[in-house]
Formats: sequence, structure tokens, C-alpha cells
Amino acid sequence: MAKKDKKTKNGGNLRCPIVCVLGHVDHGKTTLLDKIRKTRVAKREAGGITQHIGASEIPIDVIKRVCGDLLNMLKADLKIPGLLVIDTPGHEAFTSLRKRGGALADIAILVVDINEGFKPQTIEAVNILRQCKTPFVVAANKIDLIPGWNSKEMPFILNFNEKNQHPNALTEFEIRLYENVIKPLNELGFEADLYSRVQDVTKTVCIVPVSAVTGEGIPDLLMMVAGLAQKFLEDRLKLNVEGYAKGTILEVKEERGLGTTIDAIIYDGIAKRGDYLVVGLPDGVLVTRVKALLKPKPLDEMRDPRDKFKPVNEVTAAAGVKIAAPDLDKVIAGCPIRIVPKDKIEEAKEEVMREVEEAKIEVDDEGILIKADTLGSLEALANELRKAGVKIKKAEVGDVTKKDVIEVASYKQSNPLYGAIVAFNVKILPEAQKEIEKYGIKVFVDNIIYKLVEDFTEWVKKEEERIK
Ligand code: GDP
Repeated sequence: MAKKDKKTKNGGNLRCPIVCVLGHVDHGKTTLLDKIRKTRVAKREAGGITQHIGASEIPIDVIKRVCGDLLNMLKADLKIPGLLVIDTPGHEAFTSLRKRGGALADIAILVVDINEGFKPQTIEAVNILRQCKTPFVVAANKIDLIPGWNSKEMPFILNFNEKNQHPNALTEFEIRLYENVIKPLNELGFEADLYSRVQDVTKTVCIVPVSAVTGEGIPDLLMMVAGLAQKFLEDRLKLNVEGYAKGTILEVKEERGLGTTIDAIIYDGIAKRGDYLVVGLPDGVLVTRVKALLKPKPLDEMRDPRDKFKPVNEVTAAAGVKIAAPDLDKVIAGCPIRIVPKDKIEEAKEEVMREVEEAKIEVDDEGILIKADTLGSLEALANELRKAGVKIKKAEVGDVTKKDVIEVASYKQSNPLYGAIVAFNVKILPEAQKEIEKYGIKVFVDNIIYKLVEDFTEWVKKEEERIK
């Protein structure tokens, strides 16, 4: 009986793979996400995209209809119920969305402007994906800007091997595809090719040419993501619908009339209203009670723009949901959560504590202080700094405070090169500014990890020269 439920509810007991979009600034991540969200077949047909908190679900029926004949290429029967695409692009979102054993996203779309090629954040994203062993598809975006591009050429890409039969050789496209996308991927150690030429998707990264503006190539992209997810991840996507909900916090937000709420992605199990919310914090565990589970209201049901959420009794993975509960003030993005009945609280506490412990960054006896906005980005920053041979004495989530500066002033006494704070995507609090000047502490703040590492190591080099 239970088995049958699973099948009917989730189209075979696989859950939706969770998809994240990464890439360099201005390469078109947001535009691509918008275009994907607008993917609809004939208007009155059932099964459009459903909006979650922080994510959008594209049901498999929509993918099948949009992709049509293209699907023959996959030579596979798609059993996943759809794709859950995270609405916030960028690797900050990707890294803060974590779970035990790595990244929460099952698959990624790496957006590269085919005209500009690889940029610092593209390389950073590839490194993060590699570290997390997350399979990805490359969306080679902005093909509409290729000189001489003609939208009728998209179908010919599918038959690229026979391009000689095509009246206009796709030279400019070919050059940009090779120089700006394939070659840099090869240099980073990946085999990569145009998706229609790839024989084995487990060995070669598939590149799908798209235009987020005209929509060309979007069906092909959705098809490749769905196909890849199924091929790579069948085991990972097995849904345990009987179990309690496991998830991660995407964002902490104040909402009118609700107080502090969390937006979370549930990747496993079922969350029920009235159950207990167990949150793993960097310094302990919070147990509170779920007051409301909220989903976005469709526009036509909203009476007032402030009335944007609809309470539900339960939510089944994979899903994005807003949770209202007391005492959420100390909670931060990236914290692991469980939503459990009373008798499972202890078990859940142990789980989240273990997860937080594993996410803790190993520190050196001496070194610098690093700060970041989420646990995930802190880890990504620490990893990149380590690769550059930087020693880290302390790693913490949060803005740069006066206390931080005073602490670093003491590190500086042992070695002037440790008188630095490297901070990712956080602010320097006004109270800290004076102390920074007083103690002559060097503070690096940026929202690009790659740049932080570069700026810091450059500074170290100069300081070493100066000290000599
Ligand atoms: P993000 O920073 O990666 O999220 O990039 P955006 O989605 O904000 O896009 C940056 C700019 O590129 C915007 O002006 C978009 O309109 C434009 N853009 C994005 N995708 C395309 C595309 O496929 N073709 C063209 N012509 N412009 C694009």
C-alpha cells in the first residue's frame, strides 16, 4: 500500500533533482532562470511550472512536451518527476546549500557567455563543482550575439558532424565554442564537447548552446539536465517518503506578521506542520516548533501583495518552503535542519550536530582570520586559500566586528603577515573601522573568492619584500 502511494505521488519513487545555476557575473544566469521559469507549453494545458519558496519545479510532463523529439537523443526513459531549479543563481547559493556529504544541488548548469569565455568566477565555479563532485552541463549563452548568427541554425547544431552539408559553415560559432568554452574546460582537466556529439555523458561535459534572450536551445538544455540527472543520480534521488524532512536553510528573512522566518530547501522526507524544527548552528542546536509551512500563492490568488503565502499541512521533498517558527533570530543560511515528530528530536539533534561538526573548518595553530556570509562560502574560501598555501587561525560566519580586529591584532604580534582578515560577502561593521586603523590591520573584502585569494597573496608578497 505504502509503495503504491509513493509511485502515484512521485511518479516512481525518485524525487526531483535539485539544480543550481552558476557562472560569472553578467553571463546571463538570471535571464536564463527567468526564461526557464517561463517555459510553458500551450497555455491551457495542465502541469505548468510550480513556484516554491526559493525554487521552481518544472514537472517532467512540461520537459517532455517542450523537448519533444529531442528526447530520442537521450535513449532513456525519464523517470524523475521533474526538476527543482534553485531561483538564486551563483556559487554563493550553491555553496551555502549543503547537506551531509557535500552539496545539496544534485546537478549544476554552468553559464558561460560564449562570446566572452571563461572568467574568474567561471573558473571558481568549476573548481567548486569539482570539489563537490557535482555533475554539470554548460550553457554556452548569448549565441544570438555571435556575428552572423541565424536562429535557423540551431537545428543544424544537432547534426554538427554533418556540418559540411549545411549551406553556411558555422565558423564563427565553431571558433567561439572551441576557443571560449571547450579549450578552457580542457585546460581545467575536463573533456568537453557540443552535447549532440557527446557519446558518454559520464566522461564528457556536455555543452549546450543557448540564448537566454531568444530561448533558443533552452529545450535542449532542459533535456540534457534531466537526462544527466537521471543517468548520474538514480541512487541519490531515491526518495524516502516515510522519513522526516531533511533540509538546508537558503535564507533567513523577516516577514510582516510572521517575524523571522526561514526559507529552506527540503531534499529528503516529509515536513509536517506542528512538528519540531531542529536546526544545527555553529555553536549548538536549536529546537523549536513549526508554526506554519508556507508556499507561494499563485498571483491570481493574491488579494494583496503582502498576502503572498499559502499555509500547507505538509511538504514532500524535493521542495522549497518557508517556515515560520519562534526563536529563529540566531539562525543563519547554510544551517542544516530536520523537521521531526517529538520522538525523533534526539536523533535529529545528533544528525545536525554531526553535520555542523563536519562542516567546521580545520584551523592552523597560527594564521589569519577569515569570515564569510554562510558556512558553505566559508568552506569554499578556506579551501581556495589553503590551495594558495595560506594559514588560517580562525574561520567564522558573520560581519567583521571590533572583536575580530582586536583578536587579529594579537595574531599580528606573532607575525606581521597574520595581521589580516579575509572576508567574503560580508560587511565591515562601523565599530570595527577605528580599530582597523588603530592596529593597522589589513582587511580584504570582496564577493569573488578568486579575487580575495589573489589580493591577499599579492599583499603577502609585497609585505615580505618590504620586511626583507
Ligand atoms: P547574471 O549576472 O549572470 O545573472 O546575468 P544577467 O542575467 O543579469 O544578464 C546580464 C546581461 O546580459 C543582461 O543585460 C541580459 O539581458 C543580457 N543577456 C543575458 N543572456 C543573454 C542572451 O542570451 N543574449 C543576449 N543578447 N543578452 C543576454
